[in-house]
Amino acid sequence: MSNDILVIGSMNMDLVVQTPRAPKKGETIMGNKFSQIPGGKGANQALAAGKLGGEVNFIGCCGQDAFGDELLESLKTGGVNIDDVLRVEGSSGVANITIEDDGDNRIIVVAGANSKVTPEVIESFKAKIKAAKILLLQLEIPLESVSKAIEFANKYDTTVILDPAPAVKLPEELYSMIDYLLPNEGELDLLLEDYEVNTLQKKIELLLDLGVKRILLTQGGDGVTLYSKGKEESYAALKVEVVDTTAAGDSFAGAFAYGLQRGFDEAEAIRYANSVAALAVTKLGAQSSLPTKEEVDKFQK
Ligand code: ADP
Repeated sequence: MSNDILVIGSMNMDLVVQTPRAPKKGETIMGNKFSQIPGGKGANQALAAGKLGGEVNFIGCCGQDAFGDELLESLKTGGVNIDDVLRVEGSSGVANITIEDDGDNRIIVVAGANSKVTPEVIESFKAKIKAAKILLLQLEIPLESVSKAIEFANKYDTTVILDPAPAVKLPEELYSMIDYLLPNEGELDLLLEDYEVNTLQKKIELLLDLGVKRILLTQGGDGVTLYSKGKEESYAALKVEVVDTTAAGDSFAGAFAYGLQRGFDEAEAIRYANSVAALAVTKLGAQSSLPTKEEVDKFQK
């Protein structure tokens, strides 16, 4: 087994419009600013770990378009190995994002090439899943592909970290194959919509009963809580001036995987990820907000 983090997931070009307010139906208004920023939960998490100095391999699909070129360049610049990214027909994934002056945002994601990360693609990369130390996944590629990747990882004893975002109901048998589940509070609710559990405590207990080994519930500015059978530990978020919380969860997930890869214990990895995510919310955008190892070291002093 190598010491690599393998991320299998999405890559999207984020088309970000900053605007005084959202237009009403049928209305045209003038916005303040446009930015084109590489994103996609998979690529963001891979880059978060890569910029910290982690050894990261990324598997995903992008188009043969200019967005695809830029998405790959961004990952490469952050030290992520992109040899296994497939360039497929059709457009790269895009996210249409509006950010209003009061901070509210609206996001439409078009999966594009991300939908081509099929179970067959996963099958063709099973040796990579076997070779990895950690498999880091999100839900912006087809759910059957995520399931298949988790099944392989389980068979090969590769540690599975799943950020269940955007949340959908998961096949119940998957839960027992997850080492770390990283939902935020909204995602936790969506995952368990079909179950009659109405308190946070009951939701956590249910997930642990279903076999999830550890849950890291991220709670924005309130930090994060780690749950496992008979154990609950809270970690405060760091106080920073918030500019844009895009990629807060992604930076946390990538940094946590990096911490485990480096051999940090769980508490250390969580504290480190809290620092990385705090820095990420002080800057605009997804990949543009991810800090380097040097920036994190300076921030922690
Ligand atoms: P998501 O982006 O998935 O919704 P959260 O909002 O829960 O995730 O944020 C993930 C992590 O980012 C938090 O656990 C925390 O470490 C960090 N974070 C988020 N918002 C803030 C904030 N306002 N101040 C400091 N850290 C933050």
